[in-house]
Amino acid sequence: MLARKHPEIRKGGWYVPSNFTKLHKVAIIVPYRDRKKHLSIFLYYMHMFLMKQRMEYGIFIIEQAGTRPFNRGMLMNVGFLESQKMGTWECFIFHDVDLLPLDQRNLYQCAKQPRHLSASIDSMAYKLPYGHIFGGATAMTLEQFTKANGFSNRYWGWGGEDDDMYRRLWMMGYRVKRYDMSIARYTMLSHSEAEPNPKRRPILENATKVFKEEGLSTLHYEVIELTWHQLYTHIIAKLDEKTTVDIRSNVANMTVGGKM
Ligand code: UDP
Ligand code: MN
Repeated sequence: MLARKHPEIRKGGWYVPSNFTKLHKVAIIVPYRDRKKHLSIFLYYMHMFLMKQRMEYGIFIIEQAGTRPFNRGMLMNVGFLESQKMGTWECFIFHDVDLLPLDQRNLYQCAKQPRHLSASIDSMAYKLPYGHIFGGATAMTLEQFTKANGFSNRYWGWGGEDDDMYRRLWMMGYRVKRYDMSIARYTMLSHSEAEPNPKRRPILENATKVFKEEGLSTLHYEVIELTWHQLYTHIIAKLDEKTTVDIRSNVANMTVGGKM
């Protein structure tokens, strides 16, 4: 229905505004598995929201195949690399499927510093739970993301990968910015709370030591399906756990040998 009303949304969920715009061309990367209801609401809402901002954008839904614990970070890395094969995106917005921005002043663009967009969420009483939070929805340029070596691939299950990313960016000299809390408002579609991954803390402890050796540079995956739907590009990827195993042995070597 939305596509019929808005023929300017091209197949794959790409939108190109009719008049000249100086805004960044943005890839919206969404990690996904088994949230069908959220996905249809998200697509409808986001196209309406983003079209009003009049920038060129594409929506990429990156679905994890199989039943292993969800790996949000790895899916972001896959989305970054795969979207690049389909266009020259200047800005990447990594976005949970259940978050809907509530204020049009929340510009979906990148800046000199990475931006944490979803600072003020209704389910968190519109407050930041802690200062360095970097989950939900974030915006990074190609340079910011690649300098951080992307997300870590080591977090299977809920939690850690977002804090890890914050640390990567910090180590590269970036200082995360946010819009004002009155602008960065979101509603989160309801879902049951996931069980946190109990291993996330020890992995996070050596995040700053290993990030250059692990992340985008060590990603292993296979695209098993790629479909250009009317409102989005759908990529189903099989994530290779080899990535995690490789780095575990690296980490052990580093600690023993004191390489870093
Ligand atoms: N996600 C998903 N399926 C899952 C788990 C996570 O699609 O089984 C994606 C989805 O985009 C979701 C995001 O990962 O919004 C973050 O997970 P979740 O919403 O469970 O975390 P929280 O709300 O606690 O940040
Ligand atoms: Mn959520």
